[in-house]
Amino acid sequence: MGARPLLNRRLAGMGTTIFAEMSALATATGSINLGQGFPDTDGPREVAEAAARAVLDGHGNQYPPGPGIPELRTAIAEHQQRFYGLDHDPDHEVLVTAGATEAIAAALLALLEPGDEVIAFEPFYDSYAACIAMAGAVRVPLTLRAPSFRPDLERLRSLITPRTRLLLINTPHNPTGLVLTPDELAVIAELAVEHDLLVVTDEVYEHLVFSGGHHPIAALPGMRERTVSISSAGKTFSFTGWKVGWVTAAPELVSAVRTAKQYLTYVSAGPFQYAVAEALRLPDAYFDTLRADLARKRDLLADGLAEAGFQVFRPEGTYFITADITPLGEKDGPEFCRSLPERCGVVAIPNAVFYDDAEAGRSLVRFTFCKKDEVLREAVQRLRRL
Ligand code: PMP
Ligand code: GLN
Repeated sequence: MGARPLLNRRLAGMGTTIFAEMSALATATGSINLGQGFPDTDGPREVAEAAARAVLDGHGNQYPPGPGIPELRTAIAEHQQRFYGLDHDPDHEVLVTAGATEAIAAALLALLEPGDEVIAFEPFYDSYAACIAMAGAVRVPLTLRAPSFRPDLERLRSLITPRTRLLLINTPHNPTGLVLTPDELAVIAELAVEHDLLVVTDEVYEHLVFSGGHHPIAALPGMRERTVSISSAGKTFSFTGWKVGWVTAAPELVSAVRTAKQYLTYVSAGPFQYAVAEALRLPDAYFDTLRADLARKRDLLADGLAEAGFQVFRPEGTYFITADITPLGEKDGPEFCRSLPERCGVVAIPNAVFYDDAEAGRSLVRFTFCKKDEVLREAVQRLRRL
């Protein structure tokens, strides 16, 4: 081949995701993996049984319908009504995707023209930067800064230009654990209406909010016709490998996203769609217990990290804790995370990789706490060696 790089310019430098890299490091070194966010305990037995039954009974083993099976679209619409009072027609306002990841990709590929500007909170979840790039659009970061990570909404206003097409928000926010308040969401919504912007909102951690609750921006005045809401079964039901996600939005938006989605995977996860339809109808006790368990694990890990000498930013939501390594006499998160397996047998994620302004996240690292209590306790013991 000639001198031209094989990987196109839009994806240049994106290499392997940090999650794959750090999970491989954990396996290679036999470390406790508090990097990639996946639970070490599977979700409810009855939901797993529903998936097994679907396979054996021949439900979903052949291509399911493009928009998702009607049972799941109905269950998603009921979930939006039950938890947020949002009304969605399962036939025109719900789309099932291959995880939230495909929903994000399809939404951005469908809604953006090359050169459009997308304002997103930095640190960004890694697929946002890649999908904005694949769409040929330009990402414009609104940097969230420690210790509170609250967004500077005056700054947001000043970042809007005539080229801004879309606001990409994420609440609860990975990796900082920030949960947007109703007041913050109201300001963001007003800006979107005033400047006629689209909003794509990633709410995969909607059920992992420890106080104050989750508030979907789609419920605010003027937002219904301009908001694409995204979620997934991975985090809520502890089946991250099933990759069942969804979009809820007005019919024109769903139709645009579906157009892109049908040429990405077309369809996926047939039998799992039946199981997730059942999962979404679990009683409130399921969701309450999930949240209470994770709140306890958050405190266990946060207290342990503080004792080990980190500056800890206790998250309001998600199953991640961001911590600063400066009090340990360390400066460089990526270097720290590369050496941590050897020093302590623990893997974490360097937040710097989620920033355009790497300096803003240089000394921050992320640990997940969706692990068994004894695993978290052992990790904390090991980190005390620092
Ligand atoms: N968005 C955020 C903020 C995430 O942390 C993740 C990781 N699960 C995803 C999207 C992707 O979700 P899924 O596994 O359903 O594709
Ligand atoms: N969402 C998970 C995390 O932030 C990782 C998902 C992935 O590996 N792409 O850890």
